[in-house]
Amino acid sequence: MIPLQSGSNGNCIYVEAGGVALLFDGGLSTSLVRARLATFGIQLEAINAMFISHEHGDHVRHAGAVARSGGFPLYITARTYRVAQRRYDLSTKVDVRHFQAGHSVRIGPVTISSLPTPHDAVDGVVYTVDDGCHRLGICTDFGHVYSELRDLVAQVDGLYLESNYDHERLIHGPYPAALKARISGPRGHISNADAAGLVAAAASDRLQWVCLAHLSAHNNNPTLALETHRQILGQTLPLSVAKRHSATSPLCLEADLFQAASRHTKQDDPLRLFWQHGEHLGSADSLRRPIRQRKQASEGGFRF
Ligand SMILES: [Zn+2]
Ligand SMILES: [Zn+2]
Repeated sequence: MIPLQSGSNGNCIYVEAGGVALLFDGGLSTSLVRARLATFGIQLEAINAMFISHEHGDHVRHAGAVARSGGFPLYITARTYRVAQRRYDLSTKVDVRHFQAGHSVRIGPVTISSLPTPHDAVDGVVYTVDDGCHRLGICTDFGHVYSELRDLVAQVDGLYLESNYDHERLIHGPYPAALKARISGPRGHISNADAAGLVAAAASDRLQWVCLAHLSAHNNNPTLALETHRQILGQTLPLSVAKRHSATSPLCLEADLFQAASRHTKQDDPLRLFWQHGEHLGSADSLRRPIRQRKQASEGGFRF
């Protein structure tokens, strides 16, 4: 996973699993997505699909343009699409595919599952990505912690998790009362303490790391968020923070067999997962081919 940018000024996350390359949310311009992917040697044309979480502009504003430019389908619920289309004209020359909130989509060997959220959107969802070996949770803009979300967190190996605001900063900060109430209300965003409490209460031993996301510029900062999480979660679980204005270093999920030995090696290699699963997912050589070639090779079943 590579967060290309996170926060109210635009969200887009790259996920590669089982030889499938995906983007989650389209809040970044095509040129920014292209430039940030390029720094990791990835072309936009190598993306297999984009998934949208909800219709707020920071998640969908550029989705149509990015999908059109990359030539890949846009997965979005019908209700989210209707609102987003009205606001941002997503669909011209874009392959729009609908799914129902709460249902799954399968792309090659990868299952992308959605879970409805109580966020103040028409049909918002959070996602898990499962390649048969690992499950990644992509959870932002979900309103408040609810029981199905706890169940999701219990079943993931890696978690990209909203940690939007520090409660004291929000309450004593400059926002108008109505906005403070919206953010901290049951359909808004969740605080550092609530995000950490969710992980503490729900995560299982399989959770390898948490990447804190969608931090408020006014009511939070990475140091404060990490401090709060450390106070609640202790020192052992690896934590990172997705950046507001640039891409964040790739985060990988490790094979259990190698987990202990390799946690501190090659941290920035997005293909490490595939090296370790080489036998299962294809040869390491095939995965090191240029990514455009890999997309062509993968069409028709994603077999290497
Ligand atoms: Zn948002
Ligand atoms: Zn939102």
